[in-house]
Amino acid sequence: MKKRSMMAWFVVGLAAAGCSDASPPEGTPPAEVPQGFTACEGQEFTLTDPNPMYVWTPKAIRLASQELAPGVFVIYDEKADAHAPMGIPLATSGGFVVGADSVLLVESMINRQLFCQVVDLVRKETNKPIRYVVNTSSHGDHSFGNTFLPSGVHIVQHERTAKEIAEHFEEDVAFMEANFGADQGLDELKAVAADILVKDGAPWTIDLGGVTVEARYHGFAQTGGDLFVRVPSAKVLWTGNALVAEKPAVPWLLAGHAAETGMTLADVKASLPADAIVVPGHGRPVTVDGFDFAIDYLGTLVTEVGAAVSSGKTKDEAVMSVTMESFKGYAIWDWIHTTVNVPSTYDDLSP
Ligand SMILES: [Zn+2]
Repeated sequence: MKKRSMMAWFVVGLAAAGCSDASPPEGTPPAEVPQGFTACEGQEFTLTDPNPMYVWTPKAIRLASQELAPGVFVIYDEKADAHAPMGIPLATSGGFVVGADSVLLVESMINRQLFCQVVDLVRKETNKPIRYVVNTSSHGDHSFGNTFLPSGVHIVQHERTAKEIAEHFEEDVAFMEANFGADQGLDELKAVAADILVKDGAPWTIDLGGVTVEARYHGFAQTGGDLFVRVPSAKVLWTGNALVAEKPAVPWLLAGHAAETGMTLADVKASLPADAIVVPGHGRPVTVDGFDFAIDYLGTLVTEVGAAVSSGKTKDEAVMSVTMESFKGYAIWDWIHTTVNVPSTYDDLSP
């Protein structure tokens, strides 16, 4: 009898110390009700074949996770190792950080299927509750999954990202359906308001229990509200779309601002230790030098489009002349460089 009560005390002590391996004696209620994700319970997801009409096909994606440092995980498209060096667009990357008290997610992904894959990857590592989600931008592939969060999870966004989602959610869903298809589960999404808003010059930090995560605005990067997320102790940084992927991927200047984007990326790079790990918005982790190709591309783009504007070329003539052959290699180069980046930079630099 005495032995049994000693054992019960020992188990309670282990539980209090955060050891999840010890199972409680029969009849003992769990110390904490596990966090439920009703949006994912009972869901059967089948991976489809990729649709070549789409940039990438959300329902064809299988996500994988990798531990970059103790408790710091990246999540990315399992095809990243094969596709990234070939410049094939990949699904959104994210990750999670596990502290002694709680878990923080970076990005909530584009649809229920990918959101639930993220939850599964977290649950393979820990049963600690997910308490925070940081969205690096308003783009739906980084934030639509907020629809499926249970109550009690704080959503962290830059204040301009929150405003963008509040005012333009339906437009973003339409844009995403145009690029990813109307059959990818985007018809069930709802705008969810963030409750933690980050301002310029005032980074948000959170202690998850023994590990601190920071989300900071560094300047215009792809939208007016991009957050860079870092775990300083682990030297890990998430860039969101600002660094879309490794060479030969180039930035998507959907809202222009090539020069500012280049300055922001250079500023972020300069803020990192030389041995930092950088998780781009859509690819596998890279080193700090992984910024260089995008920074060089943006600098050359600004110089060449600026020269075209100065010499009186029309926008069409600029598109014809600013071919930047030495940067070619991205599978969607003809779309992103020729029909998005050169024209938007021309508009920025025109008087
Ligand atoms: Zn993205």
